[in-house]
Amino acid sequence: MDENGESYRPAEASRQAPRVTEILHSVEVSGFGEREAFIRRMVESVGLPLNNVSRITFRESSAQDTINSGVLGSVHLETGELSFYKRLEGLPEIAQLGVTAHELAHENDPHKKENASLYGSEQNMQRAAENVKKLTNQTKESKVFMNWYHKFLFQQLEAGNIDETRFLRETHAIMVELRYTNPKHLEEVLKSQNKETSAQIMTELDTTLLSLMPHLRNKNELEQHLLSLRQAYNSKLNTH
Ligand SMILES: [Zn+2]
Repeated sequence: MDENGESYRPAEASRQAPRVTEILHSVEVSGFGEREAFIRRMVESVGLPLNNVSRITFRESSAQDTINSGVLGSVHLETGELSFYKRLEGLPEIAQLGVTAHELAHENDPHKKENASLYGSEQNMQRAAENVKKLTNQTKESKVFMNWYHKFLFQQLEAGNIDETRFLRETHAIMVELRYTNPKHLEEVLKSQNKETSAQIMTELDTTLLSLMPHLRNKNELEQHLLSLRQAYNSKLNTH
C-alpha cells in the first residue's frame, strides 16, 4: 500500500513509461570516452526493456566469435553484458541505432523462458516467438533474406555451424532492427517471401513491440515513437 491507500500492482506499474535513465544509472557504461553520453542516450531512446542489461562496454574487436568477424555489437545472453565494437563508430547514426535495437532485441529474446515477464505474459512471448518462426519458415521456402547478415546466418545454419535456436534469435533481432530503421524494406522483403502473410507478420511484430513497451498504448503511439527516432538519427545525413 502506498500513502494513497492503493495496492502496488505490477500489472498497473508496467503501464507507466519505463524510467530507463534510472535503470541505466546502475548500469556501468564504459570504454566509450566522450561518446558515453551518446551511447547511453541511444540505448535509452530505443524504449525496449533494459532489465537484462548488466553492463555496456566498448570493445576493440571480437577475438573469439569467428561467425561474426564483422561484428558491431553483441550480447552475452547469460550475463546480459552488451558490447559495442570499434567499427560501430564509423557508421551513420541511423545504423548505430539499428545495431542498438538489434542487441536490445537479443536482451529481450522471446526464446528464453525467463523473459516472459518482459512481454507481460508467457502467452505474449510465445506469440512473439511464433511470429519469428513464421518468418523463418517462409525464409527457408523462398530464400529471400532481410539483409546480408540474415543470408549469411542461413548459410551457417545449412552448413551446421549454428543451430536453429541461434538462427531464430537472430531472425527476431534483425526483424526488430529493421522495424526501427527501415520498415519499408522489411515489408518489401516479407512481400517477396509471401504476399499473403506479409501484413500479418508486420502486425504481429508490432504486437511484439507493444507488449515489450507497455508505455506505448497503441499502434499509433508505436508508429510515432519509431518515426521520431528515425528522424532524429537520420538528421545528420540530411544536413549536408
Ligand atoms: Zn544478433
